[in-house]
Amino acid sequence: MKFELPPLPYAPEALEPVISASTISFHHGKHHQAYVNNLNNLIPGTRFENSSLEQIILEAEGGIFNNGAQVWNHTFYWESLGGKGSAPAGKLLAMINDAFGSFEKFKEQFADAAVKQFGSGWAWLVVNAEGKLAITTTSNAGNPMRDGLQPIFTCDVWEHAYYLDFQNRRPDYVKAFWEIVNWEKVAERLG
Ligand code: MN
Repeated sequence: MKFELPPLPYAPEALEPVISASTISFHHGKHHQAYVNNLNNLIPGTRFENSSLEQIILEAEGGIFNNGAQVWNHTFYWESLGGKGSAPAGKLLAMINDAFGSFEKFKEQFADAAVKQFGSGWAWLVVNAEGKLAITTTSNAGNPMRDGLQPIFTCDVWEHAYYLDFQNRRPDYVKAFWEIVNWEKVAERLG
């Protein structure tokens, strides 16, 4: 099975001024595309030739894991964005309040985790085994499904996600990032 780069769910300039169309052109058009191409080059002749990305995330190692997880992680990231200053509501807000005290406290804790993730990686909001929300981070291509957690939201903290717009200022990227989160999409993922 050949994997394909999913199109962005919005126009390339839709996330401006937080994420520029220029960042999108490299991040989606070059980085995300490269993970797709690498995966397609790696899987022929292996047991993952006809696997889903989820199977690859759960079972693969090395380059197949790294590229497969990065394909999934980036699609999930793009789909988490595109909101215009929306906020969590309903069941999602109730779960956030239950786990973190308030939406403001959740944002503080999530931003802290995203900023402190050393080097390349991802910050995640997940549903844990007890059905509660939790914040976790992964390095490089890591994905929380590998640890039995269900991701519902993520922030890419690889430098390529913010360097053109914020240079080395990851905290400014994470702070501005809240303005473009698609909370309706995050809520959908609760099922
Ligand atoms: Mn990325």
